[in-house]
Amino acid sequence: MNTTTDNQALDVLRRDGDAKLAPFDAQRARSLVSQFDRYALSTKQWALVHALARLATHGASSARATHDVGDLSNVLALFVRAGANLKSPTIVMSDGTGAEYRLKVARGRARHPGTLDVTTPDGATWFGRVLLSGLFEASPRVDTPSALPSALRAFAVEPAKFAGAHARATGRCMFCNLRIGEGDDPRARAVGYGEVCARNWGQPFPSKSDARALNAALFATPSSAP
Ligand SMILES: [Zn+2]
Repeated sequence: MNTTTDNQALDVLRRDGDAKLAPFDAQRARSLVSQFDRYALSTKQWALVHALARLATHGASSARATHDVGDLSNVLALFVRAGANLKSPTIVMSDGTGAEYRLKVARGRARHPGTLDVTTPDGATWFGRVLLSGLFEASPRVDTPSALPSALRAFAVEPAKFAGAHARATGRCMFCNLRIGEGDDPRARAVGYGEVCARNWGQPFPSKSDARALNAALFATPSSAP
């Protein structure tokens, strides 16, 4: 359906950017056009050109569907990194209200390969996608849960911290969705994910002594008999 070429999308921004886009997006459109005129655009910038052109073309309905949750490109970068180690990188994250979401890369045959699909953990309900531009595009058919955009944003800003909060709330590792071991190794409990996930997703992992200190601070448990 969408056969807009790069140049058509750019023309939409030249013609309608200022009139049809919100000030923040109009500014981004002007900067993309001027960079194209002087130089060239990266793949990521072209994706943003198309996203903004769709906004300018479809107006309010589409504008409502694209939540400005800030730049989610860090989340995409995490998945690209994990893709070097995992066949199908997937995250199950919580939004702080008890609701959980699955984030998974749309594969090559999908309509938007490389974007992240945001669904219920079982995949049955699709809430939207994280575009290559770093924007979140909401499903036109399902209301976006109100806590989802800010959760995506918090995850993008500090993935490790977000994973720790998720683990403390759910008892599960956000990256592999397995229970955090409560056994002998204090490290996974301290950060909320295990050593393998830390490596796969490029996240920091503490030494055992740092982990003990972290745990003492995080879980003020009554002292147990030695
Ligand atoms: Zn894990």
